[in-house]
Parts: sequence; C-alpha cells; structure tokens
Amino acid sequence: MDTQNVQSKNAEYKGTEIGPIRPPSEAESLLLRVTRNCPWNKCRFCGLYKGTTFSLRKREHVLADIDAIADFVDKIKDAEQLTGEARQRAIRRLNEEIMHAEDGSAVESAMHFYRGDLRSVFLQDANSLLTKTEDLIPILGRLKERFPSVERVTSYARSRTVLDKSDEELRALKDAGLDRIHIGMESGSDKVLELMKKGATKEIHIEAGRKVKAAGIELSEYYILGLGGKEMSEENARETADALTQIDPDFIRVRTLTVPGRVPLADDVRAGTFTQLNDVEGAQELLLFLQNLDVTSYLINNDHILNLLPEASGKLPREKERMTGVVEWFLALPAREQMIYRIGRRAGRINSQRDMQDARLRAWAESIIDGSHINAENIDELIARTMRTFV
Ligand code: SF4
Repeated sequence: MDTQNVQSKNAEYKGTEIGPIRPPSEAESLLLRVTRNCPWNKCRFCGLYKGTTFSLRKREHVLADIDAIADFVDKIKDAEQLTGEARQRAIRRLNEEIMHAEDGSAVESAMHFYRGDLRSVFLQDANSLLTKTEDLIPILGRLKERFPSVERVTSYARSRTVLDKSDEELRALKDAGLDRIHIGMESGSDKVLELMKKGATKEIHIEAGRKVKAAGIELSEYYILGLGGKEMSEENARETADALTQIDPDFIRVRTLTVPGRVPLADDVRAGTFTQLNDVEGAQELLLFLQNLDVTSYLINNDHILNLLPEASGKLPREKERMTGVVEWFLALPAREQMIYRIGRRAGRINSQRDMQDARLRAWAESIIDGSHINAENIDELIARTMRTFV
C-alpha cells in the first residue's frame, strides 16, 4: 500500500500551499494542494519529488485554503462590478491587500484562478486519491459551494491507489464532483514497468483504468515514448498500445522520455545498459504504437515541447490515418530535412509540415545548423541536451 510513507506533518495551519507540478491541461486551473509530494517516489525516470516525503494535509487545512482563496476571489469580483471612482478605490484597496497579505499564496492562487475564468481545479500533488474518501468528499463539496462556476475537478492518481478504493467510493467521489483522473501508466510492458520500478503491472493498470471509467470518471492515461530505450522500444510500443486498447481511456497523453542527470535511470544511460531513442527512433516507436492502438480516445501529443510531432494528435479512430501520416511524413524526410525540422521544433519555431514550407523559418533553422556545425554525428547529443533543459 502507498500509505506506508504517509505522515501527517501538519499539526498547525500555515496558510495556503501550492505544489510543484500540474498537467499541462491544468494551466488555467486552481491548484489545490490536498497532499504533499509522491507516496511512491521510486520511479527511476522521475526526479520530481526526490528528497521529499509524502504527507496528507488535514481536511480542515485544505478547506481553509479553499475559503481563503474564495474570499479573495469574491473581493476581486466585487471590485470588478464597480465603476468609476468607486472601482478605482476598490482596486487600490485590493492592491494594498496584495502587498501586505499574510497568506500570499492564497492571493496568488485567487488572482491566477480569476484570470483563468474559475472553471477548473486540479488537486495536487502526485497522488491525491490517497486521501481518505470521507475527507475528499467534503473538500469537493466546499469547492462546489464556494466556486459554483467550476466545471471540472481533476487529480493525479496511481493505479494501485485506484484499486484500493471500492467501486462505491469512486462513484461517491464522482458524485461529489471529481470529474477526471490522470494516471501515469507510462508503459504497458511489464518488463519496462519493472525496470523503471513503477510499482504497477500491466494488469494493475488495466484494472485500475477500467475501474475509473466504470465509476463515470474521465480517464487520462500517460504513455512515455522511449521508456523501454532502444532495447525495448518495440515491446514498449506494442504492450502500451495493447494495455490502452483494453482500457480505452478518454485521453492518452504522450510524453517523450528525457533523462536528466539527477534521476536513477541516468546511471543506466552512463553505464551503457539503457540507450535513449533519438528523434527518428522515437518516431518509429510512435508509428508502431499508433498502428497497434485500437481506441476511441483523444490522443494528445501536442501539449509538451518534448514531443517531436505535435500534429500527430487527434480523435481516434477517426483521425488515425492523418496522425500516422504525420509520423510517416517525418520518417520519409531526407536526413537534412529531418535535421531542419528537429532543430526548429526543439526551439519551438517549426511545429508542423506547413512550417517546413516557411522560407523564413527554414532559413533560420539552416543558419543554426550551419553556424553551430550541427551534423549527423552530433545532433542526437545536442537535442538530448536541449531536452534535458525542458524538464
Ligand atoms: S509515481 Fe509519478 S511522481 Fe511518483 S515517482 Fe513515479 S512518476 Fe514520479
């Protein structure tokens, strides 16, 4: 059980907390910290929570965060409704309050949330479903009560934690307002999952994914392209496609593996026992994955700069041909053209087949390639180095 690491370290309320990460789709969301850090913290490719300890936050503290944020949002709304001199005075008062706020995080969260239209909330950190159901339900209730405009509440969860909840608990959470769960499946291959110490098997992922869907909660699954390295690239593609086909989640999000020096997997890379895929090999894995995938999900490949081919995104199975066509297009490019695309993409300037027709963008990429003496021998290392700066 994940609970082995759980420590309740929050005897006193110290104000609103904001955790370190959120899914890209939650950029506009209110980030509500229900737990701290990751209860597993052993995945060999992940350095997000290294050196930290997991803990649950007290229900009362999370409720206090919601109230503090909602109180400030209400003040912003009140000020916005005024006109003329009264509005100016209210804004001056708000600015004063922002400057001297005791709970700066509440103010920061409120302003961010207000700018984001008050529509979605993300429960942080890495596995908030570990919170007891009887604590989560009132938290979801308070969110609904204080933010009636909220349309979506989401959370990360580990597959094992999902399996520890009963069907009734998951349905109760859905009824209380939990709309979507993000699960880091990462791979459907038992060999890859074991190598990466993911703490879950293909079967566990399939069972958990189906359970989330059966409860009526939307499911978003993550696939790490290249997680098997060159050694198990085919296995990673085929087994992940098979697991996801058996689950048929609402969303599949692709992440391309990158290995920063601080994660345990970097030792394998240095020892030569794990070989990272280059962009061409990654595209080959993506193509095999797509060819073996039989789902009705949205495949999202365009929400992170780490991914090479953002155009290979869309609704399956309707857009499958177009999406595989994008990958085949890249694979069929001559080496120099692939180089132009890769350099342009990693700089965030060339992101599509159309961009490749843009003379100005091409000239820019070519000047980088020629000016920095980039060639077939050094481009993989250069790109890998650039990608490490993205995580
Ligand atoms: S469960 Fe998620 S956050 Fe925790 S170590 Fe694994 S990848 Fe990182």
